[in-house]
Amino acid sequence: MTKVYLNKKISRRVESGHPWIFANEAGAIEGSAEGGETVEVFTHDKKFVGRGYINPKSQILVRLLTRDRAETIDEAFFRRRLQQAWEYRQRIGYTENCRLVFGEADDLPALIIDKFNDYFVIQTLALGIDRWKPAIVAALEEIFRPKGIYERNDVPVRELEGLPLQKGFLSAPFGTQIIINENGLRMQVDLENGQKTGYFLDQHDNRRAIRHIVKGADVLGAFCYTGSFETHAGYYGAKSVLGLDISENAVAQARHNAELNGLSGICRYEAVNAFDVLKQWSKEGRQYDVVMLDPPAFTKSRETIQKAITGYKEINLRGMKLVKKGGFLVTSSCTNLVQPELFLETIQLAAKDARRRLRQVTFRAQASDHPIVQGWENTNYLKFLIMQVL
Ligand code: SAH
Repeated sequence: MTKVYLNKKISRRVESGHPWIFANEAGAIEGSAEGGETVEVFTHDKKFVGRGYINPKSQILVRLLTRDRAETIDEAFFRRRLQQAWEYRQRIGYTENCRLVFGEADDLPALIIDKFNDYFVIQTLALGIDRWKPAIVAALEEIFRPKGIYERNDVPVRELEGLPLQKGFLSAPFGTQIIINENGLRMQVDLENGQKTGYFLDQHDNRRAIRHIVKGADVLGAFCYTGSFETHAGYYGAKSVLGLDISENAVAQARHNAELNGLSGICRYEAVNAFDVLKQWSKEGRQYDVVMLDPPAFTKSRETIQKAITGYKEINLRGMKLVKKGGFLVTSSCTNLVQPELFLETIQLAAKDARRRLRQVTFRAQASDHPIVQGWENTNYLKFLIMQVL
């Protein structure tokens, strides 16, 4: 097996157990492993670090799968890891829907598996894990006897690994518009054409966190996608809910979800650009009891963090202005590049400009089926904040 030796001075990241080894962190390589193959990693003085898969074409040269010298990487390895991931989810209370595998946090770098009750959506986002797709599918079949498995590898990050963008069935074909139960609500999920894996499970608990503040309220939800927060608001007793999303498709599905839950009279949707509309409405002096914001990641690279912060500040400033005195702002950010402290600072700056005072109701992260591993910043990505706006 090919051996990769780390440079003498290794980064804090590798030291703290993070599984990525960047090309510039490796010194000598003995052997001629091709992209996707399993290699062994050693320190400069030949101490075993772990086994993982290599991709010389990627900036991330090796991603470690195990640090246990006795563990080999084979079909049984993936079955074991999936079993462990499922046992962990069950242990912390998940039964139907969950992110079954959250990549690095489950010691399965670049693998994402969402479980929507009996249906599974897979993303293999690096060459080395893509190679094991048949083993992963076989393990899912064996453990869950699923009704269907779908691949959503139409993700641009795969190009960095030299992988094609593709989607399709990994089981016998099935109807890809499925219905899941979430917090007592029925939500339609489009596994084939929905965003990412079809549904944002990471906000699962946070959707419940709006329960009390939306009662009897006029609610505005921007970046609503299929209306998950908005449907929850209706269900929790909002007087009126208006959801906005730029995607006609998302809005159509949001309307359908309102119908599914008998909330068509309460939840309305418009397909508009939220940036434009929030700006215009705040100028016009419109007011809501609760404003919810859940924009897409404004940045995926370190170079554009400043631009992202400007975006968050702008959108939250507009949002706050639309909140009645004593009402609530519910705001999220889903990029790991803006860590929680920075997000709070940005919201604070927006409040200063909007001349509003904020009182924190709750500040949280993603649901626990997307585990945060201490010391691995990139697993701590979702910020969810509720502030009373005074
Ligand atoms: N709140 C949703 C997830 C939102 S994802 C949930 O919990 O399921 C972000 C959404 O923002 C996407 O649906 C995307 O279509 C939408 N979006 C992106 N840019 C937008 C814009 N300028 N105006 C309105 N919506 C936008």
